[in-house]
Amino acid sequence: MLSREELREIAKMQGNGTYFVSLYLNVNPVTNPKGEYVIWLKNALRDAMESLDKNVLKKVEKDLNAVEAHVAGNRRGFKKGLVLLSSSGNSFWRQYNLAVPLKNELVVDKSPYIQPLLDIFEHYPRYAVLFVDKEMARIFVIHLGEITEYGEVHTPDVPGKHKKGGWFALAQTHYERHIEYHVGLHLKDVIKKLECFFKKEDIDKLVIGGSEDAVSMTKDLLPKTVMDKIMGTFHTGMFENNVEVLKKVEQVISEFEMQKEKETVDELIRRAMKNDKAVLGMENVINAAQEGKMMRLVFERDLQSQGFRCDLCGALSVKGEINCPYCGGKMDDVNYLVDFLAQKAVEQGALVEVVSASEGLKKAGSIGAFLRF
Ligand SMILES: [Zn+2]
Repeated sequence: MLSREELREIAKMQGNGTYFVSLYLNVNPVTNPKGEYVIWLKNALRDAMESLDKNVLKKVEKDLNAVEAHVAGNRRGFKKGLVLLSSSGNSFWRQYNLAVPLKNELVVDKSPYIQPLLDIFEHYPRYAVLFVDKEMARIFVIHLGEITEYGEVHTPDVPGKHKKGGWFALAQTHYERHIEYHVGLHLKDVIKKLECFFKKEDIDKLVIGGSEDAVSMTKDLLPKTVMDKIMGTFHTGMFENNVEVLKKVEQVISEFEMQKEKETVDELIRRAMKNDKAVLGMENVINAAQEGKMMRLVFERDLQSQGFRCDLCGALSVKGEINCPYCGGKMDDVNYLVDFLAQKAVEQGALVEVVSASEGLKKAGSIGAFLRF
């Protein structure tokens, strides 16, 4: 997974006479039913080869070929957006399969082009999960629906509870104090690591899970800056795998996100009612997209959207016209109108927000948009 630290390092890279090829490609199978991105890339590569200075072309020819070969040979791993950054002169190659839509771009420059990646970092929240117990802790990052383990804190000096039994019981209070002392040290270790992690990665929110004791002890020790980011806690055991952790965390996150989504939907409906730079319903949203007005597209997760799309200019429609009202091209049936709309939104620099179903938005056609003007 893409980390803030990695992005910072890439941002610092400079050519020294070398060049970088940066490719952003919409590879969503829904909006590319005929593999249109392959054709787009072919044209973009040809344009680059024709327009680049001969000396520059010499330096990036390997990279252009590598990018083309990767797209041709790795389709099975593709999600919605593919990012490739390549500079053979710097022995540098990065590939990211993202679950968010991207606008097609091919850039050849003296430094890697990372603005779209920075935008993704800014717009999609990043959650940290701290999993804590009296002897160890694990930190996870959740971004764009993926969970990655960031690190582990192990403090092996914490004496085990089994030593409390038998004749050890004679000195019970002594041992309890001893354990408490070590647990305290361990938790301080954990918090130090957590603070360092928050500084390096731009984390928006934190979820804490673990045994009831450990969670409450940790919360008591947290500095206010970290405390303010807590959006919930949950109780569980230590050795669950990433999938199990994600399930428990999802519950906490979805409650938090539903509140935020509700605020967005309420504002959308309120503004649309007043005709204040917002619209509701598929047809109005399509018209706004056609006029390039979209700023934030908002729709329900399970929105079923059949419609029509011009095979020449890409115009969308909910009505069954035979010919495109804009260019006269042939209108094809499409089953995922909303994916095409999301792609248009991204191409206009608009944000895409998927929300859970709500009565208010359902009544308004399950889709709406905030507009630029
Ligand atoms: Zn058309």
